[in-house]
Amino acid sequence: MLDEGYIKYQSRWSKAPAPDPGAARLLEKWREPLYAAGLVGHYNELGIGFGNISMRCRDPGQFLITGTQTGHIASTTEQHYSLVTGYDIEHNEISCSGPVQASSEAMTHAAIYELDPSIAAIVHVHSKALWDEHLNSLPTTSPDVAYGTPEMAKEFRRLYTDSTFGMQGIAVMGGHEEGLIGIGESLEQAAAKILALTD
Ligand SMILES: [Zn+2]
Repeated sequence: MLDEGYIKYQSRWSKAPAPDPGAARLLEKWREPLYAAGLVGHYNELGIGFGNISMRCRDPGQFLITGTQTGHIASTTEQHYSLVTGYDIEHNEISCSGPVQASSEAMTHAAIYELDPSIAAIVHVHSKALWDEHLNSLPTTSPDVAYGTPEMAKEFRRLYTDSTFGMQGIAVMGGHEEGLIGIGESLEQAAAKILALTD
């Protein structure tokens, strides 16, 4: 059904203690209502998790993101987050550090942070209902572009330039069924963009 969950980039993972417990707590604070709304979770029939959340952290270009396959976890701790310390979109490589490897969608997050230094947080959720409702009415990435690829990174750049994505802070992933992205100048703002759709 879904093209989801497995890491498509080259991952250079340094196993290390939790990089920033304070930031992880803030991420969990905003992940909680998303999880409660079923926007972050787990496809039981497929055995894979969905949804991820990140915020800029430490040095410019670095961000803390939920680890791969953490969607099923009701309450995350700092043990479930990974610091992306570097990336190369062209060569499809991510370097990360922490107790777990970064989410399979870390490359998409990296590409979006690169669009604008004012983007401080990114929320990626899954919802069939919201995806069906907002496909092509909210800014939407091309259906030909799959998640977690360098092409998706380029597609977000196009969308940021050519649509109201930057202004509205929300996008539908046309080539990633059920996927939506919220961005904001704070984690609260990014999460609120997504949660507002469920009202
Ligand atoms: Zn996804």
